[in-house]
Amino acid sequence: MHPPQFTADHPSTDRTPHTYDVIIAGCGPTGAMLAAELRLHDVRVLVVEQETEPASAVRIVGLHIRSLELMAMRGLLERILPHGRQRPASAYFAAIAKPAPKGLDSRYAYLLGIPQPVIERLLEEHAIDLGAQVRRGRAVTGFEQDDEGVTVELADGEQLRSRYLVGCDGGRSTVRKLLGVGFPGEPARTESLMGEMEVGVPQEEIAATVAEIRETHQRFWLRPAGVGVYSVLVPAAGVSDRTEPPTLDDFKHQLRAIAGTDFGVHSPRWLSRFGDAIRLADSYRIGRVLLAGDAAHIHPPIGGQGLNLGVQDAFNLGWKLAARIRGWAPEALLDTYQTERRPVAEAVLDNTRAQTELLSTEPGAQAVRRLLTELMDFDEVNLHLLKKITAIGIRYDFGAGPDLLGRRLPDIDLEQGHLYGLLHRGRGLLLDRTERLTVGGWSDRVDYLADSTAALDVPGVLLRPDGHVAWIGDDQQDLDAHLSRWFGRPAL
Ligand SMILES: Cc1cc2nc3c(=O)[nH]c(=O)nc-3n(C[C@H](O)[C@H](O)[C@H](O)COP(=O)(O)OP(=O)(O)OC[C@H]3O[C@@H](n4cnc5c(N)ncnc54)[C@H](O)[C@@H]3O)c2cc1C
Repeated sequence: MHPPQFTADHPSTDRTPHTYDVIIAGCGPTGAMLAAELRLHDVRVLVVEQETEPASAVRIVGLHIRSLELMAMRGLLERILPHGRQRPASAYFAAIAKPAPKGLDSRYAYLLGIPQPVIERLLEEHAIDLGAQVRRGRAVTGFEQDDEGVTVELADGEQLRSRYLVGCDGGRSTVRKLLGVGFPGEPARTESLMGEMEVGVPQEEIAATVAEIRETHQRFWLRPAGVGVYSVLVPAAGVSDRTEPPTLDDFKHQLRAIAGTDFGVHSPRWLSRFGDAIRLADSYRIGRVLLAGDAAHIHPPIGGQGLNLGVQDAFNLGWKLAARIRGWAPEALLDTYQTERRPVAEAVLDNTRAQTELLSTEPGAQAVRRLLTELMDFDEVNLHLLKKITAIGIRYDFGAGPDLLGRRLPDIDLEQGHLYGLLHRGRGLLLDRTERLTVGGWSDRVDYLADSTAALDVPGVLLRPDGHVAWIGDDQQDLDAHLSRWFGRPAL
């Protein structure tokens, strides 16, 4: 990284009155998480959501280890856990069933299955509790940016002004399109129908047939999803009109084609269709407009990573954008959002490509799947793949240094509880085992904890607000340089 220049986004330079510091388009999981992260730093945030009501499709998503850690870091996990079901940290990669590997270095080493509307509601409530405004039934339809801010236009013609606009408006992002950012990649090769409905035959009969079909058809399931309700996944091939929502008859037709019976399905709760397109935005930021979540990357749902990736984008961006608005961000800080997060998305896209191939029914792909299934008996292979999916293996490039530099610090034990309990306010933290370091003039942005008993094998670490290790050592001068690098000039 180049030496930072200390120019701030001073409110006083702009003569146009700003109603907001940041407008976020879209109140999905990414938008809601970003709003909450910004509010931790007192940033004036408006979230504009086109839908009047929260989503109804009760897709169960899995929150993976790193997302659970982020929730714990903000004191949210206790609120979320009762709404989900904890499952073992296993069988993520291409749905290859293996026990959880040994050596999972996390206090939260499980998968939390939770309906997407529930996690969206909880994140939105969290953002509102922290003071974010959310306006529903309002779509962003246009914007113009200048040197000092962004004028955002809504569908009803209302114009709003803010310093920054962030498009968290999903895979078909209006913000991305208006920004003219390319979204290259591969179009969908296969599409699937997914829904929840009741069935007309006994469970034992279903289980036997489904087990037999799944030996060769990975894109198929019919499994209990609550009292009397089944989740159904079938290929959409042959279901003609992509522009129309799927019908129950489409599901019956596909079930009969694969299983020879439609299991008497009836009374659907919701029905949806999704594809396996893979695309990545060329740029995550143009001037004062940024992209996060599905607006910046889309990929097949295999491995359950999209929501996790979006929430983690928001976690990475929130404190950096807040720092810019508060006026203490080093010039290069906001650029690190793209340099850190775009490669992470690229890697996720790639692992979903690989997983998609492994789901193919072609003999060659099936042979590779059998081979990988054998290899995953080696704990190291299993752990490597699991770290990819759960995002605990991420190491941002902060320059040369020990392996821990750039990685997230697990929720280690401290004299007074554990680490993540100290990160609820979204500030940096200096964890000092030497008990002689100081955060000096950065104490308004960075907390300090002296703890000679901390479960660490290094003398001191500086953590960014997202829990990544920004510095390791015991030298105050070196520490000060790194405090400047990440947290700007010290207060006078
Ligand atoms: C079948 C399936 C299973 C999945 N399972 C998992 C899983 O297990 N784990 C996982 O991590 N991910 C999973 N995903 C992916 C996950 O659902 C998405 O990645 C996630 O919803 C992305 O969140 P987001 O907030 O970025 O975008 P979205 O959830 O798409 O939210 C975007 C929001 O923006 C709003 N909006 C759009 N345009 C505008 C506009 N112009 N103005 C204002 N608002 C606008 C939309 O109404 C929406 O509320 C799955 C996806 C599918 C299809």
